[in-house]
Amino acid sequence: MSLPRLHAAASEEQVRARTAADLAPSYLVQALLSWTPRKPGPGAAVPPVPVLFHTGYGYEEWEYTHRFVMSKFHGVMKQIRTLEASRPRLRDSFRVVSDFEPIVRSLVERVHSSEYVEAFCSGTLDSKALRKIGLPWSQKLVRRTLLECEGTRLAALLALQEGLACNTGGGTHHAFASHGSGFTIFNDLAITAQWLIDTEALGVKQVLILDLDVHQGDGTAAIFAEQREVYTVSIHCESNFPFQKQVSDLDIGLPDGTADKEYLQEVARRLPRILEDVRPDLVLYDAGVDVHQEDVLGKLALTDQGIFDRDYYVLRACAAFGVPVATVVGGGYDKNHELLAWRHSIVFQAAAAARAWGHTPPPPPGAPRDRSHQDVQDAG
Ligand SMILES: [Zn+2]
Repeated sequence: MSLPRLHAAASEEQVRARTAADLAPSYLVQALLSWTPRKPGPGAAVPPVPVLFHTGYGYEEWEYTHRFVMSKFHGVMKQIRTLEASRPRLRDSFRVVSDFEPIVRSLVERVHSSEYVEAFCSGTLDSKALRKIGLPWSQKLVRRTLLECEGTRLAALLALQEGLACNTGGGTHHAFASHGSGFTIFNDLAITAQWLIDTEALGVKQVLILDLDVHQGDGTAAIFAEQREVYTVSIHCESNFPFQKQVSDLDIGLPDGTADKEYLQEVARRLPRILEDVRPDLVLYDAGVDVHQEDVLGKLALTDQGIFDRDYYVLRACAAFGVPVATVVGGGYDKNHELLAWRHSIVFQAAAAARAWGHTPPPPPGAPRDRSHQDVQDAG
């Protein structure tokens, strides 16, 4: 069985000339047409992928030229809706969950110091700490930060129930216990992983944080440095930010300019072994798109197709091991905000494709996996 393919437009000029919304449908339609779902069988209904989105993820009072593109969260939701509306095959592929509240402070404080949480939420963080974060403080920023963390937590919960769920935000992996950094304030991945482990009734004993953003997940690595229940993996560009790296359980630092083939080979070589060794009860997957060749802060050279292949491979590998996955969008930086939102929609397209392939609800945590490492190799 071959992987579904994204078919890029003929030239970069054509890509530029068309809107992201125009481009979006053909990619997935080509992908869906070009391969046969293995499971569920023909005619069986494919359950929609839960998508976490809140209107408070973004707000309008934002400098358009700021490197951190605040509009991308609404933008990716728009892309998802356009895909669903314009392509019959994608109708009902996603189930949007929007009616949630900001995460409760006590869960944030399981990871971050209460002094830091209080200072950020009350607007009393000193200017040096704010400069390190790099985002202008406002009440709306506080709200969006807490909403985004809740979105990731709910995505994890829905993934446990339904096998797969995707947040339209999240991936704030540079946040340490007592300070923020690199556009990230509270670490949604860490807060979610800690909550999963703390909540015994969920039966989650081992979490894998798979961070494929172009930047190392330094905050996450530091937070869980001493905690075996959370296994941290970061595959990133070695020469990129953060310049002082932390130690994840597994770090792969790639050279500048790494392109699709080498990148995908690295992921495919590592991931099945990681899943087999770590045996996670849930994977938190940071699908950062700053690995893209046009990203203004990335130094790698992936194409849209390469990102789709990466995301689809990850989701399908997890499905093959019977492990639920919650995805977050992670980093992505481009002056063209629509193209950026389109790029972030790729993981949702991969999720729809993986769901059609058979990312069904997983067995209860601890139950024997019914598929093996070899299945992933065979399937790929
Ligand atoms: Zn990044």
